[in-house]
Amino acid sequence: MRIDVVTIFPAYLEPLGLSLIGTARRAGLLDIRVHDLRDHTHDRHRTVDDSPFGGGAGMVMKPEPWAAALDAVVASAPAAGAVPHLIVPGPGGVPFTQALARSLATEPWLAFACGRYEGIDERVYEHASARMPVTVVSLGDYVLGGGEVAVLAIVEAVARLLPGVIGNADSLVEESHEDGLLEYPVYTRPASWVDGAVVRDVPPVLLSGDHAAIAAWRHEQRVRRTAARRPDLLARTATVSGLGDLDVA
Ligand code: SAM
Repeated sequence: MRIDVVTIFPAYLEPLGLSLIGTARRAGLLDIRVHDLRDHTHDRHRTVDDSPFGGGAGMVMKPEPWAAALDAVVASAPAAGAVPHLIVPGPGGVPFTQALARSLATEPWLAFACGRYEGIDERVYEHASARMPVTVVSLGDYVLGGGEVAVLAIVEAVARLLPGVIGNADSLVEESHEDGLLEYPVYTRPASWVDGAVVRDVPPVLLSGDHAAIAAWRHEQRVRRTAARRPDLLARTATVSGLGDLDVA
């Protein structure tokens, strides 16, 4: 997968060289290119913002540098006619979910436009939409200072779904948000942990070797945890088996 990110803070994206994503890049599974929006300005101060028409607080990102930067990304297409799916992080976008991450993971080329200040001049969305698919995506119902943190989160969630990025693909199957339930609690050695004055034991069923009993326990834990922490998910997950058998109130 190829990923282009346009930002006024290229250094903010340096963590994309670490951990799983760094390894995937070095293995040739991910081609991530970070571009400085200010390279598409033509004044001495490399200006990317101006005051809003109609008044109001804050500054708005100017259209010309954005149009030039996005055009440059499109012009570097790996094949004639190829365009990226442009993701613009923004609190007014569609919510970012595991389902959206799965959908984005099937695309060959994503581009990201990181807004700052009060956001990007609305005409840039029109300019971009005439050239490529554009989706505004929100990380959640809160306001960040810029799109870079959202890009880090989206790229990490998408990249770990790409074939070969995670060593054991089985670990993706039972994760939180894959089927509407949160994941079960997980434990490792020691089976009995002396935590100061308290001995904390792993649930005995996990040491039983009875795979059917372990699967049943894990499913029950998933339902209970989801009911306790995210009852909104249970309401949406009508098809989850076993819900009717449990008193999750
Ligand atoms: N004035 C904008 C509004 O009220 O919708 C908020 C602008 S915010 C201070 C600056 C930038 O941060 C946005 O352009 C966007 O790139 C990013 N951002 C802020 N909150 C976000 C969120 N919840 N999800 C994704 N990106 C966000």
